[in-house]
Amino acid sequence: MRSLILVCGSVVLSWGCAAVPAASHGTLSQLSVVNGPQAEFCAHRVPAESCTRCHPELEARFKKAGDWCGPHGVPESQCFPCHPDLSFEPLPVLASHADLRILVEGGEDVPSLQPHLVPDKVTVFEFYADWCAVCRKVDRHVYARLNQRPDVAYRKLNVVSWESPLARHYLADAPGLPLLVVYDKQGREVATLSGGDTGALDRAITQAGAR
Ligand SMILES: [Zn+2]
Ligand SMILES: [Zn+2]
Repeated sequence: MRSLILVCGSVVLSWGCAAVPAASHGTLSQLSVVNGPQAEFCAHRVPAESCTRCHPELEARFKKAGDWCGPHGVPESQCFPCHPDLSFEPLPVLASHADLRILVEGGEDVPSLQPHLVPDKVTVFEFYADWCAVCRKVDRHVYARLNQRPDVAYRKLNVVSWESPLARHYLADAPGLPLLVVYDKQGREVATLSGGDTGALDRAITQAGAR
């Protein structure tokens, strides 16, 4: 499902991340995340201690946290049909020099990304949503990168849903989440990437940092 689309002179790389509709979906809460390598997994490929199919009494906790997939009757954070890229590992702890900021939390529009570029750094904007497992996978990768590269600024924008003002402005042509826009240190757009190909993101960051 690889495709290459040219949009307004910038390259949009897409690798088939499904556009998951937000309706009837919940938040990927931290309730299914496990700490430490000794976690045991049940037959549902979910951490045994938090699986609601093995432990139905846990359902209420997940529903209360908004972490519930109505169509499949399991927590959003345990729903492989909706999120084949689910992972139960916690995000890496960020070092003090890691440059991460959440620009938008509620899907409100941002007229332009330009004022949010960080001078003399590579700036990566990530349009994401709490129900997007691929976004979390990308975050896990990028957080580790940020710890190694203080010259990379990561700016996160929560679109909340495909219908939010932010999504309508920036995601009209995006095949799926996350949408990542990479700028070099001079503020020139280097790449727009959609989906979870962290290798392509690394190459874009390297390219942006070398310019
Ligand atoms: Zn189970
Ligand atoms: Zn589901």
